[in-house]
Amino acid sequence: MTSVLKTPGQIHNAVPLLDCTVAPTEAELLRIGATLVQFEQHQDWAIGRTHRHHELHSNEVMIHRLDRRTDVCEPVKFSSLIELHPHSWHYTSARHLPPYEYDTRSRPKIPQEFISELWEQLDVMKVSWSVSLIPIEPYQGRDEKWIETTDPETRSMTSILVSETHDVPVSEIVGWRFFRSDEGAVELAVVRQCKRDTVTGFHQAIYPSK
Ligand SMILES: [Zn+2]
Repeated sequence: MTSVLKTPGQIHNAVPLLDCTVAPTEAELLRIGATLVQFEQHQDWAIGRTHRHHELHSNEVMIHRLDRRTDVCEPVKFSSLIELHPHSWHYTSARHLPPYEYDTRSRPKIPQEFISELWEQLDVMKVSWSVSLIPIEPYQGRDEKWIETTDPETRSMTSILVSETHDVPVSEIVGWRFFRSDEGAVELAVVRQCKRDTVTGFHQAIYPSK
C-alpha cells in the first residue's frame, strides 16, 4: 500500500466538525484522566473533544497566538512561518498522533509510553477519533476555563480565559483537565467551552458569499 503524505492543511481539514463527534462520557474521561495522572502529564495537557471550525487551503496551518488571557487561532500560509510548534494533537492511528493546530512557541514533550498507553485506552473505548490532547497554560488557574468563539470573515477562533463559574448559555463543553485529589482519586474540571455560531446554531462557520 502506498502511503500518502498529507499537508498540515489537509490534516486539519480531516478533523471533524463538532456536530459530527460524540462527547466522551464522564466515566470515559475519568479513565483517560487516570492515565494522564499516572504519566504525570495532567499539569501540561488536557483532553479536548476534537473538532475544527474552518477549512484551510493545503498551504495553510492554523496557528495560535497567545497573549495571556486571549488566544487567537487563525490560518497562516505555511511557507511564511519562521517558527512553528505543535499545539493540539489527535490520533489518526496507533502510530500517529499528528498536530492539527500549531503554536508560536514550544510545548512540553509528550512521552512515547504515554502516547502508546493512551491510544490503547481510547481504542478500547472507541473514542480515539473524537479525543485530542490540548495544552494547559502554566498560569491557568484550576478554576478557569477558555471560551471559544469563531469568526467566519477571518476563519479565526478566539478563546478567552474566564472563571469556571462564567455562564455560557449556548455552548458545549469541549475540554477537560484532571487532578489527583488528596485521597488519590482522579477528578476532572471543565477547561474549554465552545460557543455555538449565532447564525447557524451549529459549529460549522458560514463563509460570506463572494
Ligand atoms: Zn470549538
